[in-house]
Amino acid sequence: MEAVLFRKHGGPDVLTYEDALKPEIRPNEVLVRVRACALNHLDLWVRRGIPGVPIPLPHIPGSDISGEIAQIGAEVSTVRVGQKVVLAPLVSCGKCAACVAGLDNHCRQATNLGYMIDGGCAEFVRAPEVNCLPYPENLSFEEAASIPLVFQTAWHMLLARAELQPGEDVLVLGAGSGVGSAAIQIAKFFGARVIATAGTDEKLQKAKQLGADYLINHKTQKIRDEVRRITNKRGVDVVFEHVGTATWDDSLASLAAGGRLVTCGATTGYDAKVDLRFLFTRQLSLLGSYMGTKSELQTVMKLVAAGKLKPIVDRVFPLAEAAAAHAYLESSSQFGKVVLKV
Ligand SMILES: [Zn+2]
Repeated sequence: MEAVLFRKHGGPDVLTYEDALKPEIRPNEVLVRVRACALNHLDLWVRRGIPGVPIPLPHIPGSDISGEIAQIGAEVSTVRVGQKVVLAPLVSCGKCAACVAGLDNHCRQATNLGYMIDGGCAEFVRAPEVNCLPYPENLSFEEAASIPLVFQTAWHMLLARAELQPGEDVLVLGAGSGVGSAAIQIAKFFGARVIATAGTDEKLQKAKQLGADYLINHKTQKIRDEVRRITNKRGVDVVFEHVGTATWDDSLASLAAGGRLVTCGATTGYDAKVDLRFLFTRQLSLLGSYMGTKSELQTVMKLVAAGKLKPIVDRVFPLAEAAAAHAYLESSSQFGKVVLKV
């Protein structure tokens, strides 16, 4: 099969487009003929190499996958060959206490398709049957592949972790990112007031179209000052963080008393400081979040099929141009998802 893979870590140029062995499925797995694979910042980290994470090489990246079932294992009973499918990215053991409680994102053995195991930047990928999600028929393959990782991450952050309530104020950083554009929609769906930040006015206008109530251009405006102005000095109830070092101080300073900051990533760096006096006197909560559960993703898929949430595709590249797609995502000029068509 044709695949995009890398044999060593580095820049986009380590990605090669070549022949690879078609995966062999286990009895509880399906083989999917990939039609689209959406990129995430995770793909960039995996390609560059993460200290302490020995990713098996050569490696096929790609976590967000849509396609058709090409083959099923002997124990598979809930999907059939030829069926369109979207894959949940998180592959967990399915047997531990966390997994049986439905908290598969707490499983110690969990990984993502395209992370410690091969992913969807290829004609075929293997995945457990339980990772098969119903396909929303109102979507193209490119749109369908753009849903899972960012929507389940944003959902888990806002609902399971920050426990967002109707009428609350939410600051969504990086509205142009996949996770930011998902967060705006979810927060609006639950009746919150959304302040969105982005680095260009063009991205801010798109954020507004998704429902953002207030806009901050973080290149020309100071986030904490604008949040104070918009909220009459109160601050926001929830800050949706994934940017890291570049925005951390502003994020903390934007919280109302009793506010919650929830973070799922650190695209600009991991170093951050907290003034503990500020943390306890203002009774703030700092919350980490990782991926989401399959159950949350099932709910997201229902809302997508009903047209309540929609994936935002920025640009589609052919699989053979994966290196250009990685470079484009690295440039941060996108609004929404960068997708490979397979
Ligand atoms: Zn488990």
